[in-house]
Amino acid sequence: MAMYVVGHKIPDSDSICGAIALAYLKNQIGEAAIPTRLGDVSPETQFILERFGFEAPELKLSYAGEEVYIVDHTEKTQAPDDIDEATVVGVVDHHKLGDLTTSTPLECWIRPVGCSNTIIKMMYDFYGVEIPQGIAGLMMCAILSDTVIFKSPTCTTADIKCVEALAEIAGIEDFKALGMEMFKVKSAVEGTPARDLVMRDFKDFNMNGNLVGIGQLEVIDLSVFDDIKADLEADIAKLKEEGGRHSVLLLLTDIMQEGSQMLIASDDESIVAKAYQITPENSRVWLDGVLSRKKQVVPPLQDAFA
Ligand code: MG
Ligand code: MG
Ligand code: MG
Repeated sequence: MAMYVVGHKIPDSDSICGAIALAYLKNQIGEAAIPTRLGDVSPETQFILERFGFEAPELKLSYAGEEVYIVDHTEKTQAPDDIDEATVVGVVDHHKLGDLTTSTPLECWIRPVGCSNTIIKMMYDFYGVEIPQGIAGLMMCAILSDTVIFKSPTCTTADIKCVEALAEIAGIEDFKALGMEMFKVKSAVEGTPARDLVMRDFKDFNMNGNLVGIGQLEVIDLSVFDDIKADLEADIAKLKEEGGRHSVLLLLTDIMQEGSQMLIASDDESIVAKAYQITPENSRVWLDGVLSRKKQVVPPLQDAFA
């Protein structure tokens, strides 16, 4: 029976490229594996897949009775809906440990690095499997995306070394230029419906019994949001009501200015003030130096709810 290798809901480049790269590795070591995805591929991921000549993994939402290898999270809210009826055979992740549990022993590859693909590179090295050129390109781009071309505080020496090694295998001379091309694709938000933008990189968290959704849009220049910010604010307010959420926060991240404007829809805005020790004005707040949801946004908020 082949295992399925799948990333999180609302898949990002790490989830998609990681599923492809890990499934390939598993097949090479004699464990049959099929990469799958839990949702649409983002424009950034589409750009990466096309650049290196790959198709998106098969869309598969139900895993009851199957073996599953989880990539890029350990959270129930981000897993397939029927994950409790599946057998989780392994996880590879670089986030805080979530609430996913298993009834059988599993393989765990969890490291505090900037990207799951950095850990997958370590797995290739561990098993002594050669990385094909195209897969090296996918993995390299995923790391450049997750680490915001090394600018994110989540970026480690391991991530940088992996990108350098993968760039060599992929035959990419100027990987930073390719990274910027990727973020330009990501910055093209014009003409996209507000809901699609809010949901493009959106995660729900359970914070002390409260459901909190946090979206993030990383762009080269925040002025791309000037004409649509009011629509985005109306949409996160709607999204909060629809999902019975305590809060929906949307991070508009400027990767050149290296900070994020947070748009807030909340039952209790004071929790945001408490978490980041800065008072929002008109339900907006600028968080200087904040690029990482995982490292800079979630932990203080989790503490504020505790
Ligand atoms: Mg991810
Ligand atoms: Mg990741
Ligand atoms: Mg990210």
